[in-house]
Amino acid sequence: MTDTAASTLTVVAPAYNEAQGLPAFHARLCEVLDALDLRTRVLYVDDGSRDGTWEAIRTLAANDPRTDGLRLSRNFGKEAALSAGLDHADADAVVVIDTDLQDPPELIPQLVEQWRAGFDVVYATRSAREGESRFKRFTAAAFYRVMERLSDTPLPRDTGDFRLLSRQAVLALRELRERQRFMKGLFAWIGYRQTGVSYRRHARHEGRSKWNYWRLLNLAVEGITSFSVAPLRLATWIGFGSSVLAFAYGAWVLLKALIWGDPVRGYPTLILVILFLGGVQLLALGVIGEYLGRMYAESKQRPLYFVQDRLSSDAPAAVRDDP
Ligand code: UDP
Ligand code: MG
Repeated sequence: MTDTAASTLTVVAPAYNEAQGLPAFHARLCEVLDALDLRTRVLYVDDGSRDGTWEAIRTLAANDPRTDGLRLSRNFGKEAALSAGLDHADADAVVVIDTDLQDPPELIPQLVEQWRAGFDVVYATRSAREGESRFKRFTAAAFYRVMERLSDTPLPRDTGDFRLLSRQAVLALRELRERQRFMKGLFAWIGYRQTGVSYRRHARHEGRSKWNYWRLLNLAVEGITSFSVAPLRLATWIGFGSSVLAFAYGAWVLLKALIWGDPVRGYPTLILVILFLGGVQLLALGVIGEYLGRMYAESKQRPLYFVQDRLSSDAPAAVRDDP
């Protein structure tokens, strides 16, 4: 490990319509950072907010030399905002944190401690989720259990994106340019020495969660299909099983007709078989389409995000474009 006094730490904080809570977040964060014997910076990534988030970031940056800002050209989603932050954070360690104060900045010293003990990825594990409905907690728990079963990459349970990454881990993450990004999975996938620190998750400080169940469900599908081929295999097995059954049944029907004949009756079985096989085929097609869609998205090789504005106290003049 390098001389810690000279080590740098950058906090990457994605913000989408968080103008209300940002000053409070910044104040709490800075209090923690001031107490660390590290050279710290804060990098806010404005993920195409439509409220005054960018203005709030500018105000913070104007009053605090360690604060930088990055503004994406539109709302690309948290995963892309995080990636943008990681791409632009040049430090020995990077902490990823939500700006809604659900991830307590006070935990950062503990993350740093583990990093100094030699870990590359130190994730924060929630021991309690406050201000979230029982249904949300149940679905979240169910998701982690399902992922654990299906995926080849074990995900630490009850872990959000709040974590510390060493430079090595950040460099590894930058190599992963896939468009369908499930950050929690990617964090785990890169490997290296990983450990967790547990904390109590608080309710949102301001505003409300941008995730509704539809977005969460989509995130879950993203997570499962990005990290496992189990649905594809399931479709294969269902398809295989039903064809064996259909074949056996077909043989039986044929035999029966040969021996006893079957005038007109049999319509119900016929329609039943057609519907069943049609359903199975549609299911399999849907699953294939899911993966095909992914390949389509990847094959376009689009950039993950575009940066519209950049605020940086020590960036070259060319990229400093605030009036
Ligand atoms: N966020 C973002 N882009 C989005 C949605 C959210 O950058 O499209 C940020 C948001 O500002 C916050 C963090 O991601 O800092 C977590 O968002 P949120 O609190 O809505 O999610 P939850 O805590 O419910 O998982
Ligand atoms: Mg939140």
